[in-house]
Amino acid sequence: MLHDLVIVGAGPVGTTLALALSDSDLDVVTLDARPAGSISRSDRSLALSHGARLVFERLGVWSEVAATPGAVTPITDIDISQRGGFGRARLHARDQGVDALGYVVSYRALQHALDSALGRASMSVEHGVGVTRVSATGGSAHVVGERDGAAVEWSARLAAVADGGGDVVDYIARRKYDYRQVALVAKVWSSEPHGGLAFERFTDEGPMALLPEEDHYGLVWTTSPESASALVALPDQTFLAALTQRFGPCAGPWIRVADRRTFPLTLEFARRVVGERTVLLGNAAQALHPVAGQGFNLGVRDAYELAQELLAASMAADRDHFGAHSFLAAYSRRRAADRWAGIAFTHGVLGIFGADVSLLRWPRGLALTLLDALPPVKRMFTRAMLYGVH
Ligand SMILES: Cc1cc2nc3c(=O)[nH]c(=O)nc-3n(C[C@H](O)[C@H](O)[C@H](O)COP(=O)(O)OP(=O)(O)OC[C@H]3O[C@@H](n4cnc5c(N)ncnc54)[C@H](O)[C@@H]3O)c2cc1C
Repeated sequence: MLHDLVIVGAGPVGTTLALALSDSDLDVVTLDARPAGSISRSDRSLALSHGARLVFERLGVWSEVAATPGAVTPITDIDISQRGGFGRARLHARDQGVDALGYVVSYRALQHALDSALGRASMSVEHGVGVTRVSATGGSAHVVGERDGAAVEWSARLAAVADGGGDVVDYIARRKYDYRQVALVAKVWSSEPHGGLAFERFTDEGPMALLPEEDHYGLVWTTSPESASALVALPDQTFLAALTQRFGPCAGPWIRVADRRTFPLTLEFARRVVGERTVLLGNAAQALHPVAGQGFNLGVRDAYELAQELLAASMAADRDHFGAHSFLAAYSRRRAADRWAGIAFTHGVLGIFGADVSLLRWPRGLALTLLDALPPVKRMFTRAMLYGVH
């Protein structure tokens, strides 16, 4: 049987795509390795932009996420500064006429709301299917996997791969850049309420971020693997003293820390997001350094914009067009500016702001001062953060 679309991976990006197509008469199948009712990566929080919230509102899932106790923390202001140098910028939601610049959202709560909405829309989701390969021949995509040890297979006009890694597609080349640094993440509690204020601080070891989350902050501390191992092993109070020393007095005072973990920092992206009858979305297309909190939002926009292209083609009663070269080229062009801006911005921020070069302190300070002092520049920068680049 030839489906219109097979989505590989029912994570937040794959389910966003499926849900955005739920009002159409397209024949869509979504596959995921996780068993029904379970959620992978459930310890994670996601940094959601205002634009991503609007997408989830349109899909009818935002109210459920927002009603889940502790699942959504608004970021109303962002303080950007550098350690050991001048320059500071503050971004405010009120300057943009929005309630929040972004949100820290529980992955578990968002995935739960998306799964429930797919169930209500009677969209076909097959759980417990580990896809091993996606290929394309004879004008259709072929998806091969395993369920309960048995081989299973699907054919479709188009395969959308949103498995978080893109490894099942071997005909689209990927680039990996290893920053040779790790992110130490932890929950830290201050004796002062966070009031929705997030911090980005550039230090000579790399960028640090504090994101307000429920009654605490989510800390991201970029450092060398050796230093991260030492920091993880410190007693709690010694760790908090090290945090105060490194971050400075602009945040805190710190009273508690929990859940210290580390993961390696890389930038990984597909050289092109489309191949024959195949498209890569979300982290399968680009997995960015978390410094700017933009990775997930790019994935949501990938899914939403692909859905718009598919809906337009289905309204033109042109299903054979799905996955055709001209369809994929149009989608790829439509996503190019936003995608490359996200990749280049994140990588560039690390080059200029993350480098251990004291000569860069002055241009860094100047950039921050200009960002803060020039309202049009600040507005443009904040808008790109909220809605992406179009
Ligand atoms: C260690 C780490 C920490 C992160 N921390 C943050 C953070 O603090 N804030 C933030 O905003 N972002 C964070 N991110 C990024 C964020 O997790 C991603 O942007 C987001 O999860 C992308 O969603 P996705 O749907 O593309 O992929 P995923 O969330 O990875 O979902 C992929 C889905 O595909 C399924 N799948 C995978 N392989 C297969 C297969 N072979 N067959 C079938 N199904 C499959 C999985 O079960 C899963 O449901 C982090 C990423 C990593 C790696």
